[in-house]
Amino acid sequence: VNARLEPFGTTIFAEMSALAVSTGAINLGQGFPDTDGPPEVLAAAKAAIDGGRNQYPPGPGFPELLDAIAAHQKRFYAIDIDPRRDVLVTVGATEAIAATILALCAPGDEVVTFEPYYDSYAATIALAGATMRAVPLRFPDFAVDEAALRAAFTRHTRLVLLNTPHNPTGKVFTRAELALIAQLAQDYDAWVVTDEVYEHLVFDGRTHIPVATLPGMAQRTLTISSAGKTFSTTGWKVGWVSGPEQAIAGIRGVKQFLTFVGSGPFQLATATGLGLRDSVYAGLAASLQAKRDLLVAGLVDAGLRVSIPEGTYFVIADLAPLGVRDALAFCRSDLAQRGGVVGVPVSVFCDNKEASASLVRFAFCKRDEVLTEAASRLARLR
Ligand code: PMP
Ligand code: GLN
Repeated sequence: VNARLEPFGTTIFAEMSALAVSTGAINLGQGFPDTDGPPEVLAAAKAAIDGGRNQYPPGPGFPELLDAIAAHQKRFYAIDIDPRRDVLVTVGATEAIAATILALCAPGDEVVTFEPYYDSYAATIALAGATMRAVPLRFPDFAVDEAALRAAFTRHTRLVLLNTPHNPTGKVFTRAELALIAQLAQDYDAWVVTDEVYEHLVFDGRTHIPVATLPGMAQRTLTISSAGKTFSTTGWKVGWVSGPEQAIAGIRGVKQFLTFVGSGPFQLATATGLGLRDSVYAGLAASLQAKRDLLVAGLVDAGLRVSIPEGTYFVIADLAPLGVRDALAFCRSDLAQRGGVVGVPVSVFCDNKEASASLVRFAFCKRDEVLTEAASRLARLR
């Protein structure tokens, strides 16, 4: 294989879901809901298939979805984008991330991101021949260290790859942190590529702030999102990227040779979802906030130290109180086999394995009875 990909192996999500199947353990590893999302969205997919919308969509995506994405950005964030020029529909956010990085980065370029980072970031940056500079976010508050962030920028910095709300930490970047990132991007004439797939999963009255809304940032920001988290349709793989026309044209140029287009009926159903009333979005966040509280309480009862997530559907717990020193080995063996629960070791998202050695990420996008059972199993590990 391409030597650039050699260090990456099989993604942790595939490994841990397979482990859950082979052991019968509760899967709080890979992030996917165990219930369906809004019925209107599911019905729209069936209607699209029955309505004969089953051939290749146009390269940028079906116009219905492009319009719906632009209307969504306007409605929630007062962002103005041209649906025909500034948006590209992709096969999940994953393809949007890959196509954007491949379009913007050349060998020798540097990408600033935050650690722990979503696993596809490092692999895609490597495929582009670029170099990743990861700024650590430290358990349990995961605040941005200004000096470390400044030190990560050089004259080779091509882009900042941001993720807010942040997987795996559950952190929602503050306006001050975003303003610092925006200032540095402007100072170094870098792009900001922002992965906002958890944009609607924010808790305790917080609001998601798209970096594109900060002064001067719309013209240097590419915003990525996906239907998977918002409509509980992770298997549909409908994502998108929006931003300045020239950059979107370049990203479209890459995307056409990766997948050409994605699945049409799911695009149309996602367009329906993006038009649903506000209460659907608020209801999703409220439901996940209650699930967060349920799992956090269970983890604390099990004697673990946790970082309370501000968004996403993940919580990080420190398993050191259980005597765990190597969470990767523990997740692969005892946690699943003896504990009956699958989680994801945070060190797989980090270059610095030591700082995260005893941390595990658990997903709480599951039915309440599943979370309660997982918590009681974890309590028996003491
Ligand atoms: N970015 C982040 C931060 C994620 O957690 C995920 C996983 N869902 C993705 C991107 C990929 O999204 P998709 O399934 O739409 O490709
Ligand atoms: N985004 C999900 C997670 O972080 C899983 C995505 C995947 O399996 N690639 O768990």
